[in-house]
Amino acid sequence: MNLTSLSYWEQTSFFAADVVIVGSGIVGLNAAIYIKEKQPKCSLIILERGFLPAGASTKNAGFACFGSISELIEQEKTCGTDGLHRLISKRWKGLQKLRSIVGDVQLDFKNYGGYELFTSQQTTLLEECVLKIGHFNQLIADIVDRKDTFSIGPNPTVFGFEGVSSLIENPLEAQLDPGKMMKALIAKATGLGISILNHCEVLRYRAESSGINIESNQGNFRGKRLLFCNNAFATQLLPQLALKPGRGQIIITKPINQLKIKGTFHYEKGYYYFRNVGNRLLLGGGRNLDFFTEETQQFGETPLVQNTLFRLLKEVILPTTSFEIEQKWSGIMAFGPALYPIIEEVEPHVFCAVRCNGMGIAIGSQTGAEAGEMVLNSL
Ligand SMILES: Cc1cc2nc3c(=O)[nH]c(=O)nc-3n(C[C@H](O)[C@H](O)[C@H](O)COP(=O)(O)OP(=O)(O)OC[C@H]3O[C@@H](n4cnc5c(N)ncnc54)[C@H](O)[C@@H]3O)c2cc1C
Repeated sequence: MNLTSLSYWEQTSFFAADVVIVGSGIVGLNAAIYIKEKQPKCSLIILERGFLPAGASTKNAGFACFGSISELIEQEKTCGTDGLHRLISKRWKGLQKLRSIVGDVQLDFKNYGGYELFTSQQTTLLEECVLKIGHFNQLIADIVDRKDTFSIGPNPTVFGFEGVSSLIENPLEAQLDPGKMMKALIAKATGLGISILNHCEVLRYRAESSGINIESNQGNFRGKRLLFCNNAFATQLLPQLALKPGRGQIIITKPINQLKIKGTFHYEKGYYYFRNVGNRLLLGGGRNLDFFTEETQQFGETPLVQNTLFRLLKEVILPTTSFEIEQKWSGIMAFGPALYPIIEEVEPHVFCAVRCNGMGIAIGSQTGAEAGEMVLNSL
């Protein structure tokens, strides 16, 4: 679009705000909602390059989770016991915040519980995880207000699995509908008077004495503050950030008669995850099969991951049930050397809140609120 085709009215009403946010995923929306609720007079614009949000928030698996035992073991190695406690606390708080902002009905929040699967070949991993049940129950007791979160689960045959020897259960885990979640967050934001402008890709920005000049494919915006919530795509504009993209591929079946599987399931240290969506089965993961190829900002599917997901469905998850794949898609997350999101002022008046790893549903609302607080305090 040519800037000269904008009217005076458009230019004066739509192109300036106190705070301009880049990206309308769960983090950008929560940051905007937080700022507007705390400071109703603050004007806000969210610029979103997609027709819909086009990263991870509308494309994920909808697990409302805070980590399976084998994932927590790995994460404790990276961030230490105190660090892991802080991280789980953020995930838990984030989920409670999301539920209070959107409401369980609108989220289609279902507390069916979660399970980690161990196949007959994974005896060493199973032993290691079982030994850690007490440790993690103690670690998170003050966060979730119960002492027995993780326990040995039911006999895997109740779900009809093949070759699965054991389950570890977490009754606090739940599932939600990411489409409904995002629709409700968008409705909440627009209801508060926050402008969300789609098909608007931010290309460059420049700090000037009178504020930040934000160049987009639809024209130039001005903001007193600029907050990047564009997650895996942030390095296009902030190359100094320590984050890398990671693509996640997902498949979903057509409805299955008398589907035995109900809940959220983790397998192989969280690299595979599946759940029921009503009477459909959703399965995702497999990034670990080819980290190099999956470290991309491009959406798409690969035969290696798709074939592995299909085989897992056929041989382990639904071995005696006929099924058809209805749809497949991908989303892009952001990972990095640390498990914490990056919430910081990258230069005067320019902020970022990115890198929620694979648990942005859990940690996204909290991340948005913390970034919103940081921006508000600077105004
Ligand atoms: C396949 C998959 C499964 C997942 N499953 C789960 C799960 O079950 N549970 C869980 O907790 N987490 C899950 N996650 C992770 C979670 O979805 C993400 O951590 C979270 O959605 C990140 O939110 P965000 O707002 O930071 O980023 P995003 O949702 O990616 O939002 C960033 C937005 O910025 C926009 N943008 C980018 N560049 C620009 C630009 N230059 N100008 C304007 N706009 C721009 C993008 O279009 C996008 O809409 C999953 C992710 C994937 C991909």
